[in-house]
Amino acid sequence: MQLQTILNRVARHKSFVYGQPRFTNDALRPTIEVPIRARANGRPICSGCGQRRPGYDRLTPRRFEFVPLWQIAVVFVYALRRVDCPRCGVVVERVPWSSGKSRLTTAYQWFLAGWAKRLSWQEVASVFHTTWEHVRDSVRHAVAWGLVHRDLSGASAIGVDEIQWRRGHHYLTLVYQIDAGCKRLLWIGRERTEACLRRGLELLGQDFCSGLQFVCSDLWQPYLKVLAEQAGTAVHVLDRFHIMKQLGEAIDAVRAGEARRMKQDGYEPVLKHSRWCLLKRPENLTDQQTVKLDELLKYNLQSVRAYLHREDFQRFWEYQSPVWAGRFLDEWCTRVMRSRLEPLKKVARSLRKHRPLLLNWFRAQGTISAGIIEGFNNKAKLTMRKSYGFREFETIELALYHQLGNLPQPESTHRFC
Ligand SMILES: [Zn+2]
Repeated sequence: MQLQTILNRVARHKSFVYGQPRFTNDALRPTIEVPIRARANGRPICSGCGQRRPGYDRLTPRRFEFVPLWQIAVVFVYALRRVDCPRCGVVVERVPWSSGKSRLTTAYQWFLAGWAKRLSWQEVASVFHTTWEHVRDSVRHAVAWGLVHRDLSGASAIGVDEIQWRRGHHYLTLVYQIDAGCKRLLWIGRERTEACLRRGLELLGQDFCSGLQFVCSDLWQPYLKVLAEQAGTAVHVLDRFHIMKQLGEAIDAVRAGEARRMKQDGYEPVLKHSRWCLLKRPENLTDQQTVKLDELLKYNLQSVRAYLHREDFQRFWEYQSPVWAGRFLDEWCTRVMRSRLEPLKKVARSLRKHRPLLLNWFRAQGTISAGIIEGFNNKAKLTMRKSYGFREFETIELALYHQLGNLPQPESTHRFC
């Protein structure tokens, strides 16, 4: 079987013909060059307006890298024609295997982008003997195509989350679709301000926002405000994951303060290495940690009391009726407000303030799965960790869309990866 036969099977282009392939020796790695020529009867297509126009002249041959065969590079060689277009002037023709100025064919870009979902970009570059920049450009191409061709209709639930990037207080805003049948990342903003989220929702569109039935977020004030204003008809649900995380942080603050005080007063350091015992759920403790927890429980420590309040709060999520859940919430807040655990009281105050939003959790029950935002949050963190060395916002943005956006891709690309 000849290489042309294979190429005609996987990448046939009307109006163009593959010539006789040949090995080249001048390149750094084994390379097959495949000349391409235009059929004599086909007129070139203007890249400006997409119409067939009379040819003007021919440029010097250019190389376009195709998907490698058995790790042998495959390169198309073609001399682009220029057209004389009455509308666009003298411009270069459009060819079906490549877009714009890229040295890679579109098929190869989809191929690399497909692998960049499974491996880190650096790994893709080294496995396929290409550069990190080429991998990034391929992902950029795939993401741009996917964003244009994705379908936003029918979305009824979104979650808004923030995620830390770089060191210090830099946060990205992430908007997810969290419908049962369609879970994906929809939008990324480079801050967590009101203006940022507002811009994101505007980009998703008026129709999109008015079709929403549920929105889900944490207690970050700018999000609450913008969601109320842009998606006022939707039921706003506070995300369970974030509330439990806040309680965890409060316990940690109590523990740290108490450990410091005890050390000053010369008590033995019972709180040393206890951090994980207090933060973990009982069923997740290791044997050794369970012993530590028993030891801690012997003392009537503030940390322990804080821990018990948090454990008690777990019951909140198990209610079926918003009325009873509301009653539990009020009692829990009263108990905490009587304690002298300042960090926990802070959380209780904010829960009280957002009581109606908290109780919306029960109105949305069964619609929004509890772990969905947490799951996305973990995947986003993993993507960012895997892409270490990404300092540019654009690169992180591309990686997140590519990994979590569930973006569509053209049917024809599936056969390569
Ligand atoms: Zn034109």
